[in-house]
Amino acid sequence: MTLFEEGRNRTGPATLTVDAVVVGLGAGGSMALRQLARDGVSVLGLEAGGRHTPAQFNQREDEMLPLLFQDGGGRMTADLAIRVLQGRGVGGSTLHNTNLCKRTPSAILEQWALDYGVSGASAADLDRSYAAVEADLSITEIPEDAINGNNRLLQRGVSALGWRGGVLRHNRVGCRRSGFCELGCAYDAKQNAAKILVPQAMEAGGRVFSDARVDRILHDGSRATGVAGTFVDDAGNATFPFEIRAKIVVLGGSATGSAALALASNVPDPYDRCGRGLRLHPGSVAAGVFEHPVDAHRGIPQSYECTEYLEFGRGAEKRVWILTAFAHPIGTASMLPGFGVKHMTRMRKYRHLAVFSAMVHDETEGRVIAGEGGRPVLQYAMTEADRRQLAMGLRACGRLLLAAGATEVTFPAIDAPTVTTDAALNALSMDFVRPHTLAMSAVHPMGSMALGDDPKRSVVASTGEHHQLKGLFVADGSLFPTSLGVPPQWSIYAFAHHLSPHMIDAIKR
Ligand SMILES: Cc1cc2nc3c(=O)[nH]c(=O)nc-3n(C[C@H](O)[C@H](O)[C@H](O)COP(=O)(O)OP(=O)(O)OC[C@H]3O[C@@H](n4cnc5c(N)ncnc54)[C@H](O)[C@@H]3O)c2cc1C
Ligand code: SF4
Repeated sequence: MTLFEEGRNRTGPATLTVDAVVVGLGAGGSMALRQLARDGVSVLGLEAGGRHTPAQFNQREDEMLPLLFQDGGGRMTADLAIRVLQGRGVGGSTLHNTNLCKRTPSAILEQWALDYGVSGASAADLDRSYAAVEADLSITEIPEDAINGNNRLLQRGVSALGWRGGVLRHNRVGCRRSGFCELGCAYDAKQNAAKILVPQAMEAGGRVFSDARVDRILHDGSRATGVAGTFVDDAGNATFPFEIRAKIVVLGGSATGSAALALASNVPDPYDRCGRGLRLHPGSVAAGVFEHPVDAHRGIPQSYECTEYLEFGRGAEKRVWILTAFAHPIGTASMLPGFGVKHMTRMRKYRHLAVFSAMVHDETEGRVIAGEGGRPVLQYAMTEADRRQLAMGLRACGRLLLAAGATEVTFPAIDAPTVTTDAALNALSMDFVRPHTLAMSAVHPMGSMALGDDPKRSVVASTGEHHQLKGLFVADGSLFPTSLGVPPQWSIYAFAHHLSPHMIDAIKR
C-alpha cells in the first residue's frame, strides 16, 4: 500500500474505509493527521492541491502565485475590497507563509472563556500543545544579525519614538536569508506542515491523497459517516470520484474552506452559526522612500514588530499590529499607486523603499457562504471602529518611517496621499482609509466555525466536535471565536494538537 498518492495520476475512482479522514492538509489538518496516525488510527488525509517540493520553488511570482495560492493569489472578499491570500497544496498556507510564531495572548483565551463559553483552553491548558509545536517546528528567536534593511528601519523608528517593539520568533532552520518566503522556500528551511508533520504522519502509517478535493461531508443528520469528492488534474479539472467512509471526519480546510464545505454539505445548523464570525486581520501599508538603498526584498522578510498600538482583551482601545511588509516586483507594482510615468517613477525607487504594515486585530464579523460548486465566498464589511483602527495604524506607520529617516511616505490609495514631514502627516485626512479607496489585504482568515460550549453561539464544542453532527471535528483556523491579534499558525497547530485526544476518543466510542 502506498502511503502517498497523487490524485492527478489516478486512473480510476477510489472507495475506502478508514477510522478517520482529514480534509485539507495545512497547519491544522496536518497536525491532526500526524497525531491520529501516531495513535495507531487508520487515517487518510485528503488535500485539494498538489504536492510541491523545494525544487519547484523557482522564486518567480508569475509561476509560484498560481501554483501555491488559492485562486492563483487573486482571492478577494465578495465586494472586492480586500485581497485574501491563502495556500493550496500539501502544507496549505504554511508552504509560503512568513514563519512568524507567537502564542495567543492569555487575555484573548480568558475572553473566550468568559464571553464565548470556551472551556479547557486556558494558557495553562494549552501549554503542553504549544510546547510540542515549538519543539516540532524548531521555533526560535530570529537572530539579531538576520534583521534585514527594512526591519532595521522599523527597529530604528521604534527606538527613535520610544515605542514598544521587539524581535520576533520563527520556524526556520538553515535559512539562507534569500527573502523569497512568500513564494515557497527553495532551500527547504521552513519547518512547516509539509516538511515536518506530513512525513511524520506517513512514518506512523497515515495515508495521503493530494489533488483530492472533498465536495461533500457524508452524514445521516446526526453523525458524520465520511466524505465524497473528486480527484483533480493539473488544471484543477475533476477526473475520478472518490468516497471515503470513516468513523470521524476532521476539517482542516481553513477558515474559508471548512465552513464552505460544511454549508455545501447541509450539515445541520439550527442556530445559523456556520460561516459566521469570519475575521481576517485586514491591513494595508505605508511606503517610505530612503536616500540609501534599503533592499527590503533581501533577507528574512519580517523579523521585528511594533506593539505600541496593540492591546488584547475585551474593550482594547488599540488593536493594530505593526510590522514590515515587502513584495517582489510584481506584488510591489500592484500596490504602488499611480499610472504611467508616475507609477514607473515610484517603481524605480524599488531598492530605496521600506514598507511598514498595519494589521487590524479585527472585531468585524464577516461571513463565509458556499458559492457555486461549494467555493467559499467571503462577505466582510469592515466596521467603522476597525476602519478607524486601520487609519490610526497607518498614521503610526508613517510616523515610524519618518522617524527612521524616510524622505517621503506614500499610501497605496487613489490619489496616492504623500507626505514628507510629521506636520503634514498629522494634518493628513485619513479619510482614504476605506474599502475601494485603499488597497487592503489579509493573510490570516480565522473564525467561521467557532469553538464554545453553547450550541446557540458556536459551531463546535470545546472538544472540537460539531454540536449537531457527532464525529465531525474542526482542527483549523475556523475554531477561533475572535481574531487573535497575533500570527495564527502556532495556535492553529497547537489547537489541533490539543483537540486530537477528543478525536481519538470519538473513534473508540
Ligand atoms: C502570505 C502569507 C503569510 C503568512 N505569514 C504568517 C506568519 O508569518 N505567521 C503565521 O502565524 N501565520 C502566517 N500566515 C497564516 C498561516 O499560514 C495560516 O493562518 C495557517 O496556515 C492556516 O492554517 P489552516 O489549517 O487553517 O489552513 P491552511 O494552512 O490554509 O490549509 C488549508 C488547506 O486545506 C485545503 N482545502 C480546503 N478545502 C478543501 C477541500 N474541500 N478538500 C480538500 N482540501 C481542501 C487547502 O487547499 C489548503 O491546503 C500567512 C499566510 C499567508 C498566506
Ligand atoms: S528567507 Fe529563509 S525561509 Fe525564506 S525563502 Fe529564503 S531561505 Fe527560505
